[in-house]
Amino acid sequence: MTLPAARLVLHLELLPGILVLFGRIPAMGPEDAGTRNAVVLLSGGVDSATTLAIARRDGYRCHALSFRYGQRHAVELQAARRVADLLGAVGHRVLTVPIGQLGGSALTDEAIPVPRDRAAREMARGIPTTYVPARNTVFLAVALAFAEVVGADAIYIGVNAIDYSGYPDCRPEYIAAFQRVAALATRRAVEGTAPEIVAPLISMTKADIIRTGLALGVDYSLTVSCYDPDAQGRACGRCDSCKLRRKGFDEAGVPDPTVYRERDA
Ligand SMILES: [Zn+2]
Repeated sequence: MTLPAARLVLHLELLPGILVLFGRIPAMGPEDAGTRNAVVLLSGGVDSATTLAIARRDGYRCHALSFRYGQRHAVELQAARRVADLLGAVGHRVLTVPIGQLGGSALTDEAIPVPRDRAAREMARGIPTTYVPARNTVFLAVALAFAEVVGADAIYIGVNAIDYSGYPDCRPEYIAAFQRVAALATRRAVEGTAPEIVAPLISMTKADIIRTGLALGVDYSLTVSCYDPDAQGRACGRCDSCKLRRKGFDEAGVPDPTVYRERDA
């Protein structure tokens, strides 16, 4: 038995919507993107995945940018690749910028242990050893270069000043200062308008971030937050990032799809 052509077309038209419902394909493909370009810094975690979804919602053609900077594990770059695909980025570049060779961070130096089991009060105090010296400045500088090349009107970065770990380069003052750099340092700014540095999560709680991302079709099972995952990408459940993520999902009232390597972590 053959279906009439009209019915077949109807079914094919319904298919993307059905798949979106089940989180199988992006709510928007690259072909749905607008004409304005944005560079989106993508680490493969909750915040940057949500930021990419927001940039897509804002109508941008998104050029995702990730870095191989000497982080302990490659799983976050694999996560970034999956997230870029799911959320319909027009491209995903992974650049090697080996600032980890300078040392000075638990995220890049095996000799410095990743802090575990810290209470929220402790996290709110001081700058932890997981801070990578000047990382966001380096990443934003490269993003600015990429923005010049692709003609981007915006650079999206998923920094957050509420549920974060005390990093100095995640503060609103810092983003405002880098906006000044973008205005002074680029041909795009001299000949037209400087790329806007957009930090849509900066004053959101982790729970708000997660709710926003879910509404925009982010599949958080693809993301990796842990500072010290194993080779399979399973999270430790005990570092600051795991704890902030878990707290966010708890407060958002949705299940955390993270796979933890210790059942009682
Ligand atoms: Zn962890």
